[in-house]
Amino acid sequence: MLGPIDFVAIAIVALIFIPLERLLPLHREQKLLRSHWLNDAAFMFLNILPITLGVVFFSFLFAGVAQRWMPAGFLAAVRGQPIWLQAAEVVLVADIGFYLMHRTFHAVPFLWRFHAVHHSIEELDWLAAYRVHPLDQILTKSASVLPVILLGFSDGAVMLYVLLYKWQSLAIHSNSRIALGPLKWIFASPQFHHWHHANEPQAYDKNFAGQLALLDWIGRTLYMPAHMPAKYGTDAPMPQRFDLQMIHPFRRQKAPSVQQSNVAA
Ligand SMILES: [Zn+2]
Repeated sequence: MLGPIDFVAIAIVALIFIPLERLLPLHREQKLLRSHWLNDAAFMFLNILPITLGVVFFSFLFAGVAQRWMPAGFLAAVRGQPIWLQAAEVVLVADIGFYLMHRTFHAVPFLWRFHAVHHSIEELDWLAAYRVHPLDQILTKSASVLPVILLGFSDGAVMLYVLLYKWQSLAIHSNSRIALGPLKWIFASPQFHHWHHANEPQAYDKNFAGQLALLDWIGRTLYMPAHMPAKYGTDAPMPQRFDLQMIHPFRRQKAPSVQQSNVAA
């Protein structure tokens, strides 16, 4: 199920982020082995296979459509650009797909049931990035790769994007004070994404982008005050165990079903 490459990648990530969060902690009082860390470690190991299979399935589907419907001359022109320019374009189009699907997961009550698993985190750190329901991630990642595949970017540019996305995703969840200065209005940072997880009504349904905070400015969903949130998560009840979180979206929901409902809850 997991290959040696996966274990090496996880070990490298842990060896970088654990010291970083000790050296530059955002919430200094948060413990290394914070509550439910084992639950999120289970997500880290067990999610790799279903998410990979799901995204590969949709990628082949989109590639078939691209081959059939997209003009060959257009695809060749896209691939003919310098790799750095293609990579920048991939980040832009992939994050537009990510933004739209993420916003949809917040707006549609049935989809929110799946995404609520990720928002149940009450102590953010790099490991928290892995607590995602696989169906949520398969659809959101597929929305990111759809425009990338249809536009026919080269494999090298896509690899650069994937590497950047993975590291940025871990960094924005991390319990660290990494700051981007004025670039924080363009790129997603811990400050930007921590507000997405804040359990404060004014921050609900804000900061949907995965990489480009600029998209939230355009979409009028940006919320990034100078201070950092004090409380994360939602008020809706969520079991704090891997297996129960996996089946939670399919169970009868007694609680408010979208994040905004917490305002009245
Ligand atoms: Zn969200």
